[in-house]
Order: sequence, then C-alpha cells, then structure tokens
Amino acid sequence: MRIGILGGGQLARMLALAGTPLGMRFMFLAPEADACAASLGTHLQAPFTDQDAWATLATGADRVTCELEHVPLPTLQYFHQRGLLAPSDEAVAIAQERLHEKELLNRLELPTAQYAAVDSAADMASALAITGLPAILKTRRMGYDGKGQAMIREPGEALAAWHSLGEVPAILESVVPFERELSIIGVRGRDGVCRFWPLSENRHRNGILRLSLCRPGNPLQALAEKYCERLLVALDYVGVLALELFQCGDELFANEYAPRVHNSGHWTIEGAVTSQFENHLRAVAGLPLGCTEARGHSAMVNFIGNMPDSRQLLDIPGLHLHSYGKSAAPGRKLGHATLCGATAEQLAKNTERLIELADAAEGAPPHA
Ligand code: ATP
Ligand code: MG
Ligand code: MG
Repeated sequence: MRIGILGGGQLARMLALAGTPLGMRFMFLAPEADACAASLGTHLQAPFTDQDAWATLATGADRVTCELEHVPLPTLQYFHQRGLLAPSDEAVAIAQERLHEKELLNRLELPTAQYAAVDSAADMASALAITGLPAILKTRRMGYDGKGQAMIREPGEALAAWHSLGEVPAILESVVPFERELSIIGVRGRDGVCRFWPLSENRHRNGILRLSLCRPGNPLQALAEKYCERLLVALDYVGVLALELFQCGDELFANEYAPRVHNSGHWTIEGAVTSQFENHLRAVAGLPLGCTEARGHSAMVNFIGNMPDSRQLLDIPGLHLHSYGKSAAPGRKLGHATLCGATAEQLAKNTERLIELADAAEGAPPHA
C-alpha cells in the first residue's frame, strides 16, 4: 500500500516509521526543501496548491492523509473527490476554523468555554458580554502552538487584543479555570470500529506542549471516550483524532480537536500496544485496528528550540529518544523522549531528570 501524506514534518516522519514495517511506502507533498520526513519516502517538493503535484500524488498513492490541519481546502477536496483522502475534507475543514469547530462541538453537546465570533472592533463589547473576563481572543484560522491568541483580563485590553491579532476574523472564549489539561486520542476504522488510548495529561508552557503523562485508570476516561466517539461518528471519521480537554473537577470541557495524529499521543509509540501512528495508517488503509491499551505509565517530554545532549539523555535508564533531524530554531519542536514504567513512582525521578535536560537545552543558544 502506497500512502501519500500532505506535509513532511515530524508527524509524517513518525507515520512513515510506523508504516514501513507494515510494508507501506510513503510519498510526502511538502513545500519545504528540508522536510524531515523526506528520507523515509519520496518527497514531492511543491506548494500545497501545486496542481501538478496533486496529480503526481494521486497517481503514486493508494490513500492520502494529512499530518497538519492547515492544508488548503481545494487540495483536500481534490483527493477527497478521488476517494483517496482520510479523514475527510470536511473533518479537516471544520478543524481549520475555530468558530465552525466550536459550533460543531456545541451541536454535539460537548461542553465548551463560552464563545462569540468577533469580526470587527465593534463586536468586542457584545462578545465580552457573553464570555465575561478573563477571556482569550484567538484568530479563527491558522493558529497553532498558542500563536494568534491574546489574553484579555481587563475591559481596557480588548481593543489592543483585536489589533494585536491583525484585525482578522477571531473568536473570543471565556478562560476555563481548569485544574488540568487532558487529551483523548481516538481512532475510527473504515468499518466504524472506534478505539481510544488512555487519557494523556498535558502541560504547556508559552502555548507549546512540554510534557504528556499517561497514567491509566483516570476516572474521566469513560466520559472523554463518550465525547470523542460522538465526534468520530458525527464526522464519519476515518483515522486518528485528538480531542483536547480541560478538566474542572469531574467535568470536561472540549477545547479543540486535531484531525490527525497528535503530539500528546507520542508516548503511544513505546507506551501502548499499538501506537497512534500505526493505528492511523491501519484505519486509512482499511486494515483491522490494533489494541490501544497502555503497557503501563508513560511520560513524554518535548525538546523545543534546542536538542539536549544525546549522551546525557541516553544515560537515563529506559529512555526512548526521538530526534526529528530538524535544524534548531527558538520555539521549534525538534524531538521528544519517552519513559515507560509500571508505576508513576517508578517514572518520577527519571522524568524529573529528563525535564531538567530539556529545560537546560532550551535555555542555551541554538547550535550554530
Ligand atoms: P495547538 O498547538 O494545541 O493546536 P492552538 O494554537 O490551536 O494549540 P489552543 O489549543 O486553543 O491553541 O490553546 C493553546 C493553549 O492555551 C491551551 O492548551 C490552553 O493551555 C490555553 N487555552 C486555550 N484556550 C483556553 C480557554 N478557553 N481557557 C483556558 N485556557 C485556554
Ligand atoms: Mg490547535
Ligand atoms: Mg490546542
């Protein structure tokens, strides 16, 4: 089976690493010359809007999927119309637009923050009346890693927030006073079978995911699965989907969904019987899904801006290192490492050391 991937970053790379043992071959449509997935397949270096590249990919691939949600809609539609794309163009298009996404979540009765559309400075006052303060103004399109967001704590900050985002269509959301951020990663096969991995607990800094923990047995697992399944079924979804959640006591509020494999699921490579990457490919290819049970507890730490020294990392017992082969730049995800153990206590000391190395590397200037 030949799989075409829209995008050539680390998610495409980890998909190819998971699919190669299954006998799959990969082709990546990615505009950047140094796409880090390129060495694992054929790289079509072209803009996502290049119609010759679409035709080449459609000829060279039996199925097409994407590793990022910000692929232009006409590109997605081209592959959808040829019966090649999974998940569907609609599932990706809704995730590209935060207002459409929130509307869908609410239609499906998944609790969310209060929200209102903001299309002009004049909309700000009525939006604030709905959300109250504090609130977050977000661009409706193209946001990731917390980019395109402005916090509003006082009414006087509202206009500055609107200007700071470039006066583009936005959404205002009430700030959910969460105790914890969680994500549920689910997969749905072509036959409609759904499976879910144990919840990930996620810690962010500066809008970027730093740490994901899998501690199986969370009492909110069933509720999270119910919400995620509702979304998978409503979208007639095929593949992996990640639903980001805020936990407030025993309630869960949906933040956004990613129509793809997700950073908070990287621990599944070593920490689950079948990884999110393998199951995404199995779903896309119409193969039976693998077991999503965790093998124990896991901790995944991202390396942002600068890779720690690999000797020091590999000195940590049992550490699984993933270096994406990308050049260093502030705020860029360059790699991650995962630790697995039978209990949370067993992991705690080594996880602390891993975080220390990641933080120290990030503080250092990028390598020349
Ligand atoms: P991602 O990289 O996950 O795609 P993103 O840029 O799409 O991020 P969000 O996930 O919406 O942005 O927001 C980034 C982070 O900001 C969240 O993980 C959470 O920590 C915080 N945040 C966003 N919206 C809210 C909210 N309504 N209430 C509280 N915190 C929020
Ligand atoms: Mg997002
Ligand atoms: Mg998010």
